[in-house]
Amino acid sequence: MFIDGEWKEAENNAKFDVFNPATGEVLAQVPDGSDKDISLAIEAADRAFSSWSSLTAYQRSHYLYTAWKIMLDKKEDLARIMTQEQGKPLAAARNEVQYGADFLLWFAEEAKRVYGQTIPSARPDQRFIVLKQPVGVVGAITPWNYPVSMITRKLAPALAAGCTVVLKPAEATPLCAMEMFKIFEQAQLPPGVVNLVTTLDPKPVGAQFVSNPIIRKLTFTGSTRVGKMLAQEAAANMKRISLELGGHAPFIVYDDADPVHAAKGAVLVKFLNTGQACISPNRIFVPRHMVDAFTKEFTLRVNAMKPGNGMDKDVRIGPLVGPDAVSKVENQVKDALEKGAHLITGGKRLTDGPLEKGYFYAPTVLTHVTKEMLIYREETFGPVAAIIAYDPEDDVIEMANDTVYGLAAYVYTKSTTRAMTAFERLKFGIIGINDINPTSAAAPFGGMKDSGMGREGSKEGINEYLETKLGGFSI
Ligand code: NAD
Repeated sequence: MFIDGEWKEAENNAKFDVFNPATGEVLAQVPDGSDKDISLAIEAADRAFSSWSSLTAYQRSHYLYTAWKIMLDKKEDLARIMTQEQGKPLAAARNEVQYGADFLLWFAEEAKRVYGQTIPSARPDQRFIVLKQPVGVVGAITPWNYPVSMITRKLAPALAAGCTVVLKPAEATPLCAMEMFKIFEQAQLPPGVVNLVTTLDPKPVGAQFVSNPIIRKLTFTGSTRVGKMLAQEAAANMKRISLELGGHAPFIVYDDADPVHAAKGAVLVKFLNTGQACISPNRIFVPRHMVDAFTKEFTLRVNAMKPGNGMDKDVRIGPLVGPDAVSKVENQVKDALEKGAHLITGGKRLTDGPLEKGYFYAPTVLTHVTKEMLIYREETFGPVAAIIAYDPEDDVIEMANDTVYGLAAYVYTKSTTRAMTAFERLKFGIIGINDINPTSAAAPFGGMKDSGMGREGSKEGINEYLETKLGGFSI
């Protein structure tokens, strides 16, 4: 763990194992932090806050810029650790490191653009000035599926704003977090500005982040279930929160879309990170008369993707994160088949040869998916594509909006009118129009409804870490 500028074991010397999900091998043992360690990290962040927040924006920017340069130098090392610890193919891991580094550069620049306001007053003797100030010490909790970029997406804006941070990464991916903190150490961030606590049981950290009076802000990426629970507890102590939670993205193909182009896009985004992405399409809506052509093209591309260890050349589908993820996928597929879905390809665990000890599930395509099936309602977080036929009289946007989630949605059409109508009517925070990658450090990322609140990245991202202070001056 990295606390107050030093690498430390847990107070009680406890450790836990980190596994390679492709092989089942233990990769390393890392400290299993206790309640005491968490308190020490929070206190260190508190001590560092006053001097860090007093630096000029240019000085903080310089640290972030330095960390960005180091991160790019270490791109290959970081990507290799990520593939071994999290499972995604090496090329995808390299992309993630680049995406993660982008946030350091973006917020190194945004640090210098935290503008206040002057507001005209109705009273001649009065002046209003609005100041933006850092919220204070931030508690950050990140997931395993994007174990590097979720860290920089939170820490870069927090640091740019002048906040200090305690991070708890997911228990499946502490090694990526440790590598990131080596970068912050090398960038010579002052002691206590960033602190890392690794722990197998996340509950005590969550409990301290929502109750310790030093923490002024909680930023969380993970499941809706945990996000809601933390939000409830944070409300009792009036902590600021940002939540990036689950998704259930619709992918709408209109009848004027090119089925080949749409199928190509849908496969790329559906199987990104073996389906373990919060923006992964979970419901693919296709006009009934186009289902056969679309499914044929889609399945051809799915069958061309090689599953295996992400370190091996040409592998496109890595393992799932663990046994629970495999069970969830198996359960959704079984339920769908029992209720009348057609299995076009996949539909089983992969255990042949070297895959035996990992958590592999075959990339799967289901058609005839209907409302009654679990997969129509629940986030899958795995490599299963659910194709749903719709008819001309159906309001497909209404069908797409029929979910508690509201993170990402995709639309394929050649009609500008349809594209604009869908963009305006879809109740999701991120809409890809003939575009499967509507994400960038420069663009706001976040969801509506049960997908959370707040936005990360973009010029909005830094606001999550700022307070607004009004000064009324009588002169
Ligand atoms: P999870 O909620 O179980 O875990 C996420 C993080 O929360 C981990 O660090 C975990 O240790 C921690 N956590 C778990 N229980 C906790 C508790 N009681 N108190 C404090 N922290 C706790 O989620 P997961 O299943 O590991 O991650 C996948 C989920 O994350 C999916 O639902 C996915 O959609 C979501 N996700 C969302 C985004 C986004 O930007 N919206 C990005 C990635 C993942």
